[in-house]
Amino acid sequence: MIKKRNQLRGLLSELNSTVLFDEPMNKYTSFSIGGPAEAMVFPRDERDMSKIIHIARVEKIPLFILGKGSNLLVSDKGLHGIVASLSSNLSGECFRQIVQTKELNNRVYLYAGAGVALTRLLRFTIQNGLSGLEFTAGIPGSFGGAVIMNAGSYGKEIKDVLDSVRIIDRDGCPADIPAKDISFKYRGTAIHGKAIAGAVLRLRKGDKEKIEKTVQENLLMKKKSQPLNKPSAGSIFKNPGSTRAWELIDSVGMRGASVGGACVSPVHANFIVNTGRATAGDVISLIRQIGSRVEKDTGITLELEVKIVGK
Ligand SMILES: Cc1cc2nc3c(=O)[nH]c(=O)nc-3n(C[C@H](O)[C@H](O)[C@H](O)COP(=O)(O)OP(=O)(O)OC[C@H]3O[C@@H](n4cnc5c(N)ncnc54)[C@H](O)[C@@H]3O)c2cc1C
Repeated sequence: MIKKRNQLRGLLSELNSTVLFDEPMNKYTSFSIGGPAEAMVFPRDERDMSKIIHIARVEKIPLFILGKGSNLLVSDKGLHGIVASLSSNLSGECFRQIVQTKELNNRVYLYAGAGVALTRLLRFTIQNGLSGLEFTAGIPGSFGGAVIMNAGSYGKEIKDVLDSVRIIDRDGCPADIPAKDISFKYRGTAIHGKAIAGAVLRLRKGDKEKIEKTVQENLLMKKKSQPLNKPSAGSIFKNPGSTRAWELIDSVGMRGASVGGACVSPVHANFIVNTGRATAGDVISLIRQIGSRVEKDTGITLELEVKIVGK
């Protein structure tokens, strides 16, 4: 074990990036849950990210790419191997930059690094009178996480405004892929085993006040319908087809149900909230209870939207 740890230290010492060992993941997840990451790396630039991918592949070390941790349930024992965090102040500037790349007719193209907070990106577009991202108001993740999850709301998804995605592939090589060549689905993409370094958005010039008004309206709706004052990971289950997961959970009487410190939110039945001391184990037990109850009473199998990761 000690030998393995020393080997990992040695491999990661080749990088120019900050590395923290046994870093508690509850500091990095919106659920405020999760045991330690064996090695948390904050890649300084794309070259270091490429090296990390290479090291992980050659040495067969598990690698997890972390955004803002807002769609994650990390196990109580934490994550083995390397966690690459692109969305921290310690991560490289290239993952946190927003730059206009071109303007064509009424269209403005923006490149944003994967680590940019979606809220910051939205603010940037409002300030610059750019329309297209209003639907992301209230989604708390990083831009890279939003691309991978194909985050959406109010009938719109991130894929609708993407022009291209910059990935670093399994061999550590960067490539810009046109969005039309990527297969997106409801809350997911076909991008697996690769890191997203950033992406180009295709936005429209619009009226600042109108954009701001739409954003405020969207935010208000979220505030009314979501338990934003408690740690959570957003919707636990995907909506099965046109049926709403929260309606199914409600219909089987699980609203308000709890296990330990994990509770089905009384405000939104598809949210599980951490009431203070919830463990990942509590949340997983509650998820299982909900899943089997919904299946037994309605015949519908719910699919997870939240990603459960760890030992
Ligand atoms: C209060 C609340 C409200 C929410 N509302 C919505 C909503 O309305 N709509 C919606 O779609 N979602 C919603 N979510 C869920 C969540 O915010 C989104 O799924 C978000 O896009 C996740 O981004 P993240 O950076 O937090 O990703 P993380 O949670 O850090 O990671 C999620 C997955 O993406 C992968 N990933 C992240 N970044 C990268 C990268 N750069 N390269 C490769 N893989 C990467 C991770 O490995 C992981 O598999 C909500 C969550 C909360 C807590």
